[in-house]
Amino acid sequence: MRKARTGKLKLLCVVCHPADAIDGAGGTLCQHAARGDQVTVVVCTHGVDTHDLRRNDRVRFGGRGRVTDPVTARDRKEAEVVAGMKLLGVTDVRFLRFADELLTVSPKLIEALAAVMAEVQPHLMITHNPTENAGLADIGHADSAQAALKAQYLANTQRFLRRPPGRKFPAQIFFLTMNGQTTRLTAEGSRFGNVLIDISDVIERKVRALDCLASQYYPGLVARKVLEDVNGQMGLHWRLSYAESFQTYFPESYRYLPANPYLLEFAATSARERARRLRLIVPFIKPPTARTR
Ligand SMILES: [Zn+2]
Repeated sequence: MRKARTGKLKLLCVVCHPADAIDGAGGTLCQHAARGDQVTVVVCTHGVDTHDLRRNDRVRFGGRGRVTDPVTARDRKEAEVVAGMKLLGVTDVRFLRFADELLTVSPKLIEALAAVMAEVQPHLMITHNPTENAGLADIGHADSAQAALKAQYLANTQRFLRRPPGRKFPAQIFFLTMNGQTTRLTAEGSRFGNVLIDISDVIERKVRALDCLASQYYPGLVARKVLEDVNGQMGLHWRLSYAESFQTYFPESYRYLPANPYLLEFAATSARERARRLRLIVPFIKPPTARTR
């Protein structure tokens, strides 16, 4: 077996909508970027048709003035994401600009993703779970993931490779644990993430990044509520204040059983200490004082 590589990793995060990478993996991407890994985010759709909630309200309920034209709306959304990603330390964000009103797993989308993959040659790829909402009436997450999984094969072919890369890419694939929809169909899939990334140290940066997404009414309460509920819940039973959750696509291979430093440390920490470490973004209801605890 060739010696395992060490050093900087290349990460590619393929998502459907402009906000998805910040929402699902913003803290993880932030931490990888901070330690010097190369992080690239690819956004498949412009998100204007379904994820510009301000514009959607105007289309549905009327109001003064004209509906923002699609190009202006697209540019605003992209600027929001670029600003949010920058706060997380990620500057390589690419927009494929497919329409989100009806995204399908088309050859065009697969080829566009393959072109980026062949250029970046990521060691690790993050994307949605391709069975989200049973892979059926999905908002586009499943289609983007299915396209990304097909694109990984295409990217490794002669059509896309300019020179032999010396390895197949990506070596590992992680699915974002779905949290975008709550329907009968999402209940058919698994929301269990077998990899938790502790993002407690960068939760404030993630809140500030979501605050950039004005077209989805994130700034303020929504950003805080979402992160408290989603990332707080993901880490709750391991007393990680905030965690992002992923599912591994391939089986994890090791020579020995993987002893996990987080779990070993968790087992060696008292319940009192674990409870003491928990943090809240917005303590609307004040925690009891030390004396009454
Ligand atoms: Zn989405």
